[in-house]
Amino acid sequence: MLPNDPLKRILYIDLSAKKFWVEERYDLVAQNIGGTGLASALLEEECPENIDPRDPKNPIIFAVGPANGLFPLASKTVSMFLSPHNKLLGESHAGGRSALALRMAGYGAVVIRGQSDIPIYLIIDNQGVKFKDARALWGLPVSETGRFIREKESGSGLRSILRIGPAGESGVTYSCVVTETYRHFGRLGLGALFGYKKLKAILIKGKQALPVADRSTYKKLYDDLLKRLHDTPSLKKYYEIGTAVNIIPLNKLGALPTRNLRETRFEAAEKICGENYAKNFLGRRLACAHCPIACIHIAALRTPYEDEPYFYKTSFISYDYEPIYATGSMIGVGSPEGVLRILDTVDNLGFDVMSVGVVLAWATEAFEKELVTEKETMGLKPRFGDVETYIKMLNLIAAQANEFYAALARGVDFASQKYGGEEFALAFGGNEMSGYHTGYGIHVTHLTGSRHSHLDSAGYSYDQKTKPEEINPEKLAQKLFNEEAYRQVLSSAVCCFFGRSVYNLETLAQVFSCSGFSYTIEDLKGLGVAILKRKYLFKKKRGFAPSKLRIPKRILETVSPHGKLREEFLKETVKIYENLLEQGGG
Ligand code: SF4
Repeated sequence: MLPNDPLKRILYIDLSAKKFWVEERYDLVAQNIGGTGLASALLEEECPENIDPRDPKNPIIFAVGPANGLFPLASKTVSMFLSPHNKLLGESHAGGRSALALRMAGYGAVVIRGQSDIPIYLIIDNQGVKFKDARALWGLPVSETGRFIREKESGSGLRSILRIGPAGESGVTYSCVVTETYRHFGRLGLGALFGYKKLKAILIKGKQALPVADRSTYKKLYDDLLKRLHDTPSLKKYYEIGTAVNIIPLNKLGALPTRNLRETRFEAAEKICGENYAKNFLGRRLACAHCPIACIHIAALRTPYEDEPYFYKTSFISYDYEPIYATGSMIGVGSPEGVLRILDTVDNLGFDVMSVGVVLAWATEAFEKELVTEKETMGLKPRFGDVETYIKMLNLIAAQANEFYAALARGVDFASQKYGGEEFALAFGGNEMSGYHTGYGIHVTHLTGSRHSHLDSAGYSYDQKTKPEEINPEKLAQKLFNEEAYRQVLSSAVCCFFGRSVYNLETLAQVFSCSGFSYTIEDLKGLGVAILKRKYLFKKKRGFAPSKLRIPKRILETVSPHGKLREEFLKETVKIYENLLEQGGG
């Protein structure tokens, strides 16, 4: 690492004492690069073994890496914590401007300890940290919180604002942190942790220059990467239509989870597909800082005033494949406006959209099967496709309005243990499923991934590229393990996963050398496996065992493009994966 790189500076913040300090951790950063590598090392140092996620000792770590601020698509910040949702490893990545802002504020990572006595927000810049009273903001939705801080504080154009909504404040275990209005630290409950700590928001700003080892080598590599990214066809598709372009192909394939995965084809797919949104609702496209792709698509939704003809409220709402799956097909909503209205509510209350969509789907089926009645739902009658009822339910979950909604606020694993219906509670390792029922690969990813997220090893992609007869447990486990290990390096840089076809290990070694890190491809392979194993051991120490994972029956009942899935096949693959983790890759 270059001696003058701010990456080695770790900012420590104690919310209880309202103090901060900076430590220069050259060795720690040199050994772990940044992002996921650095955050996992800091989490291991900071998080005691036998604590509840609500304990003030549960730290929040944010980390950036050497590629942030220097290379295109290196736009993500990694957050890590003990998850309030599954009580295992909490890890979530977000784009927007936070990575650039943190790197240019002069830090490689931030460690937040303790708990404030009153609601506060933080301002982090080159000078350190300011602690601001947020009592007036507590209870406000995400959008108003952002607007208030934008108007009150300086740094326009350079800053990033991370904030929570009412779901995070009340401790919904899958609440998220929203940044720059349209990006999220979505999965595994970082929002709840902000809520426990009475941390309403963080504003980060900075304009420090970043060093490179050799300017002409850097420029040459930069230009080459930019050209390769521009020439990648799938990225052009994401610019034009966004990730929602995947709705139609997955529906045709019979892999789009519909009505709590009772089906895999949705009759209204053409109404909620990316092409229809791009044609009839697209308001603008946005990009994370330093990204030439701009995959973020924002719909403009006009809602007429009730008593005033010719007057409308226009809302700008971001949409992607996963949010559309979760608030569209999964809960049977086929109206594009209906999906947008639900998404707007989800964003303003501050839920992880995938988890809350699966929660609503489970609650609907539980109501149909009379496991819960109007007594529990407070008079509501959830039905697939009923937008108005879902919007009311979202508000009741955020408020944890009664015992039933408080159970829903803890996810489908918890709710189904209390009310029954485990066989159709679609969570893996405590995390609700993503929008793919493509075959064995995706569900092995859900089961074995360190975050139980589709992004851990992208089994959905393997399923779509591989014929059923070519898949066997050994091959599948090894393939997904290699992918997950590689992704540890990519997210230590920290690059967006959409850039993975360009940012292979060879390119990443060149990228790291611009910041003075000297790695061979073999070194990076070893580092990826070591980070993965560290994350696995963090979970294992907290009671995680892959062989004890619950496999929801519903994924075995509903036919996938690879046919009906067999439980023994999944269990065997998980066992092999576990051995790979134990042995560090075999
Ligand atoms: S491809 Fe999309 S998510 Fe990735 S950095 Fe660019 S705008 Fe952000």
